[in-house]
Amino acid sequence: MQLVPALLPGLIQAIDHAIETNAEEVTALDQAIGDGDHVTNLQRGIKALMAQSDELATLDWAAAWQKIGMTLMTAVGGASGSLYGTLFVAMSKAARDRPLDLQAFAEIFTSGVGAVKQRGKADAGEKTMLDVLIPVAASLRQAAADSVALPVALENVTRTAIAGMESTRDMLATKGRASFLEERSRGHIDAGAKTSQLMICALVDVLAKHLTAPA
Ligand code: ADP
Ligand code: MG
Repeated sequence: MQLVPALLPGLIQAIDHAIETNAEEVTALDQAIGDGDHVTNLQRGIKALMAQSDELATLDWAAAWQKIGMTLMTAVGGASGSLYGTLFVAMSKAARDRPLDLQAFAEIFTSGVGAVKQRGKADAGEKTMLDVLIPVAASLRQAAADSVALPVALENVTRTAIAGMESTRDMLATKGRASFLEERSRGHIDAGAKTSQLMICALVDVLAKHLTAPA
Protein backbone atom coordinates (compact mmCIF):
# COMPACT_ATOMS: atom_id res chain seq x y z
CA MET A 1 0.00 0.00 0.00
CA GLN A 2 1.42 3.32 -1.04
CA LEU A 3 0.17 6.79 -0.26
CA VAL A 4 1.03 8.62 -3.48
CA PRO A 5 -0.12 11.96 -4.93
CA ALA A 6 -2.07 9.98 -7.56
CA LEU A 7 -4.65 9.74 -4.76
CA LEU A 8 -5.13 13.53 -4.80
CA PRO A 9 -7.97 13.77 -7.35
CA GLY A 10 -10.03 11.33 -5.29
CA LEU A 11 -9.16 13.10 -2.05
CA ILE A 12 -10.10 16.53 -3.44
CA GLN A 13 -13.37 15.15 -4.79
CA ALA A 14 -14.21 13.67 -1.39
CA ILE A 15 -13.55 17.02 0.27
CA ASP A 16 -15.74 18.79 -2.28
CA HIS A 17 -18.55 16.33 -1.59
CA ALA A 18 -18.23 16.68 2.20
CA ILE A 19 -18.38 20.49 2.08
CA GLU A 20 -21.22 20.50 -0.47
CA THR A 21 -23.28 18.07 1.63
CA ASN A 22 -22.83 20.18 4.78
CA ALA A 23 -22.87 23.61 3.14
CA GLU A 24 -26.12 24.83 4.70
CA GLU A 25 -25.19 23.73 8.19
CA VAL A 26 -21.72 25.33 8.03
CA THR A 27 -23.06 28.54 6.52
CA ALA A 28 -25.53 28.78 9.41
CA LEU A 29 -22.62 28.41 11.85
CA ASP A 30 -20.62 31.17 10.14
CA GLN A 31 -23.72 33.37 10.01
CA ALA A 32 -24.23 32.92 13.76
CA ILE A 33 -20.78 34.18 14.81
CA GLY A 34 -19.03 35.24 11.57
CA ASP A 35 -20.05 36.82 8.27
CA GLY A 36 -21.48 33.74 6.55
CA ASP A 37 -18.96 33.46 3.71
CA HIS A 38 -16.83 30.56 4.96
CA VAL A 39 -18.36 27.87 2.72
CA THR A 40 -18.25 29.98 -0.44
CA ASN A 41 -14.65 30.98 0.38
CA LEU A 42 -13.66 27.36 0.79
CA GLN A 43 -15.58 26.14 -2.25
CA ARG A 44 -13.72 28.65 -4.45
CA GLY A 45 -10.49 27.01 -3.31
CA ILE A 46 -11.77 23.46 -3.72
CA LYS A 47 -13.01 24.16 -7.27
CA ALA A 48 -9.61 25.66 -8.13
CA LEU A 49 -7.94 22.50 -6.79
CA MET A 50 -10.33 20.30 -8.79
CA ALA A 51 -9.29 22.13 -11.95
CA GLN A 52 -5.64 21.33 -11.12
CA SER A 53 -6.12 17.82 -9.81
CA ASP A 54 -4.78 15.95 -12.85
CA GLU A 55 -1.59 17.98 -12.68
CA LEU A 56 -1.32 17.59 -8.89
CA ALA A 57 -1.48 13.81 -9.33
CA THR A 58 1.76 13.87 -11.34
CA LEU A 59 3.82 15.77 -8.72
CA ASP A 60 5.62 14.52 -5.63
CA TRP A 61 4.07 15.36 -2.25
CA ALA A 62 6.28 18.38 -1.57
CA ALA A 63 5.50 19.95 -4.94
CA ALA A 64 1.81 19.05 -4.69
CA TRP A 65 1.43 20.58 -1.22
CA GLN A 66 3.26 23.73 -2.36
CA LYS A 67 0.91 24.13 -5.31
CA ILE A 68 -2.16 23.39 -3.19
CA GLY A 69 -1.05 25.97 -0.63
CA MET A 70 -0.47 28.68 -3.23
CA THR A 71 -3.82 27.94 -4.89
CA LEU A 72 -5.69 28.10 -1.58
CA MET A 73 -3.99 31.38 -0.65
CA THR A 74 -5.10 33.06 -3.85
CA ALA A 75 -8.49 31.39 -4.39
CA VAL A 76 -10.05 31.11 -0.94
CA GLY A 77 -9.81 34.60 0.54
CA GLY A 78 -10.98 35.38 4.08
CA ALA A 79 -8.96 34.50 7.14
CA SER A 80 -9.19 30.83 6.27
CA GLY A 81 -7.53 31.24 2.84
CA SER A 82 -4.20 32.41 4.17
CA LEU A 83 -4.35 29.93 7.05
CA TYR A 84 -5.06 26.86 4.90
CA GLY A 85 -2.53 28.13 2.36
CA THR A 86 0.07 28.46 5.10
CA LEU A 87 -0.69 24.92 6.32
CA PHE A 88 0.14 23.35 2.95
CA VAL A 89 3.13 25.54 2.10
CA ALA A 90 4.68 24.72 5.49
CA MET A 91 3.92 21.01 4.99
CA SER A 92 5.70 21.21 1.65
CA LYS A 93 8.80 22.75 3.25
CA ALA A 94 8.85 20.03 5.92
CA ALA A 95 8.28 17.26 3.38
CA ARG A 96 11.35 17.59 1.22
CA ASP A 97 13.35 14.45 0.51
CA ARG A 98 11.64 12.10 2.92
CA PRO A 99 9.56 9.00 2.32
CA LEU A 100 5.99 9.45 3.54
CA ASP A 101 5.31 7.07 6.39
CA LEU A 102 3.15 7.73 9.46
CA GLN A 103 6.05 9.15 11.49
CA ALA A 104 7.09 11.50 8.68
CA PHE A 105 3.52 12.60 8.01
CA ALA A 106 2.92 13.26 11.72
CA GLU A 107 6.00 15.53 11.79
CA ILE A 108 5.11 17.22 8.50
CA PHE A 109 1.52 17.90 9.58
CA THR A 110 2.75 19.19 12.95
CA SER A 111 5.05 21.65 11.13
CA GLY A 112 2.10 22.81 9.03
CA VAL A 113 -0.10 23.32 12.08
CA GLY A 114 2.73 25.20 13.82
CA ALA A 115 2.88 27.59 10.88
CA VAL A 116 -0.90 28.14 11.07
CA LYS A 117 -0.57 28.96 14.78
CA GLN A 118 2.11 31.52 13.98
CA ARG A 119 0.26 33.01 11.06
CA GLY A 120 -3.01 33.38 12.98
CA LYS A 121 -1.27 34.26 16.26
CA ALA A 122 -3.59 31.70 17.79
CA ASP A 123 -3.45 28.51 19.83
CA ALA A 124 -5.76 25.77 21.08
CA GLY A 125 -8.81 26.92 23.03
CA GLU A 126 -9.52 30.07 20.97
CA LYS A 127 -12.47 28.60 19.04
CA THR A 128 -10.89 28.23 15.61
CA MET A 129 -9.85 25.53 13.13
CA LEU A 130 -6.81 25.04 15.38
CA ASP A 131 -9.04 23.26 17.92
CA VAL A 132 -9.28 20.49 15.33
CA LEU A 133 -5.83 20.75 13.72
CA ILE A 134 -3.77 20.78 16.94
CA PRO A 135 -5.34 17.65 18.51
CA VAL A 136 -5.25 15.82 15.16
CA ALA A 137 -1.50 16.55 14.89
CA ALA A 138 -1.04 15.24 18.44
CA SER A 139 -3.07 12.13 17.62
CA LEU A 140 -0.86 11.42 14.58
CA ARG A 141 2.31 11.86 16.65
CA GLN A 142 0.94 9.54 19.34
CA ALA A 143 0.00 6.91 16.75
CA ALA A 144 3.49 7.10 15.26
CA ALA A 145 5.15 6.89 18.69
CA ASP A 146 3.02 3.84 19.57
CA SER A 147 3.60 2.30 16.12
CA VAL A 148 -0.11 1.61 15.76
CA ALA A 149 -1.45 0.16 12.52
CA LEU A 150 -2.54 2.77 9.97
CA PRO A 151 -6.28 1.89 10.09
CA VAL A 152 -6.24 2.40 13.88
CA ALA A 153 -4.35 5.69 13.50
CA LEU A 154 -7.00 6.85 11.01
CA GLU A 155 -9.85 5.91 13.36
CA ASN A 156 -8.16 7.92 16.12
CA VAL A 157 -7.85 10.90 13.79
CA THR A 158 -11.57 10.80 12.98
CA ARG A 159 -12.54 10.59 16.65
CA THR A 160 -10.12 13.37 17.59
CA ALA A 161 -11.30 15.68 14.81
CA ILE A 162 -14.96 15.28 15.82
CA ALA A 163 -14.17 15.85 19.51
CA GLY A 164 -12.10 18.94 18.64
CA MET A 165 -14.89 20.38 16.49
CA GLU A 166 -17.46 19.76 19.26
CA SER A 167 -15.17 21.32 21.86
CA THR A 168 -15.41 24.72 20.13
CA ARG A 169 -19.15 25.02 20.95
CA ASP A 170 -18.65 26.23 24.51
CA MET A 171 -15.46 28.17 23.92
CA LEU A 172 -15.13 31.92 23.99
CA ALA A 173 -13.81 33.17 20.63
CA THR A 174 -10.66 35.24 21.07
CA LYS A 175 -9.50 35.31 17.41
CA GLY A 176 -11.16 36.16 14.10
CA ARG A 177 -14.55 37.79 13.52
CA ALA A 178 -16.31 35.67 16.16
CA SER A 179 -14.17 37.37 18.84
CA PHE A 180 -16.12 40.62 18.23
CA LEU A 181 -19.14 38.91 19.82
CA GLU A 182 -17.26 38.19 23.06
CA GLU A 183 -19.50 36.12 25.42
CA ARG A 184 -22.18 35.78 22.71
CA SER A 185 -19.74 33.65 20.70
CA ARG A 186 -20.37 30.79 23.14
CA GLY A 187 -22.94 28.14 22.22
CA HIS A 188 -22.03 27.90 18.50
CA ILE A 189 -19.53 25.55 16.88
CA ASP A 190 -16.82 27.44 14.97
CA ALA A 191 -17.34 27.19 11.20
CA GLY A 192 -13.63 26.71 10.46
CA ALA A 193 -13.37 23.94 13.06
CA LYS A 194 -16.39 22.27 11.45
CA THR A 195 -14.98 22.42 7.90
CA SER A 196 -11.56 21.23 9.10
CA GLN A 197 -13.26 18.26 10.77
CA LEU A 198 -15.38 17.52 7.69
CA MET A 199 -12.36 17.65 5.38
CA ILE A 200 -10.18 15.54 7.65
CA CYS A 201 -12.92 12.91 8.06
CA ALA A 202 -13.45 12.85 4.28
CA LEU A 203 -9.69 12.33 3.72
CA VAL A 204 -9.61 9.55 6.31
CA ASP A 205 -12.56 7.76 4.68
CA VAL A 206 -10.85 7.72 1.28
CA LEU A 207 -7.54 6.57 2.77
CA ALA A 208 -9.21 3.87 4.89
CA LYS A 209 -11.00 2.51 1.78
CA HIS A 210 -7.73 2.64 -0.14
CA LEU A 211 -6.02 0.64 2.61
CA THR A 212 -8.63 -2.12 2.54
CA ALA A 213 -9.04 -2.24 -1.26
CA PRO A 214 -7.57 -5.32 -2.95
CA ALA A 215 -4.21 -4.50 -4.56
P1 ADP B 1 -13.35 35.43 7.53
O1 ADP B 1 -13.42 35.23 9.02
O2 ADP B 1 -12.26 36.37 7.12
O3 ADP B 1 -14.69 35.72 6.95
P2 ADP B 1 -13.65 32.65 6.81
O4 ADP B 1 -15.10 32.83 7.10
O5 ADP B 1 -13.32 31.99 5.52
O6 ADP B 1 -12.87 34.01 6.92
O7 ADP B 1 -12.98 31.75 7.94
C1 ADP B 1 -13.30 31.90 9.27
C2 ADP B 1 -12.61 30.79 10.06
O8 ADP B 1 -11.20 31.00 10.09
C3 ADP B 1 -13.04 30.77 11.51
O9 ADP B 1 -14.20 29.99 11.67
C4 ADP B 1 -11.84 30.19 12.23
O10 ADP B 1 -11.89 28.77 12.31
C5 ADP B 1 -10.68 30.54 11.34
N1 ADP B 1 -9.87 31.62 11.90
C6 ADP B 1 -10.13 32.94 11.91
N2 ADP B 1 -9.13 33.61 12.50
C7 ADP B 1 -8.20 32.69 12.89
C8 ADP B 1 -6.92 32.76 13.53
N3 ADP B 1 -6.37 33.89 13.91
N4 ADP B 1 -6.26 31.59 13.74
C9 ADP B 1 -6.79 30.41 13.34
N5 ADP B 1 -7.99 30.29 12.72
C10 ADP B 1 -8.69 31.41 12.51
MG1 MG C 1 -16.37 34.43 7.21
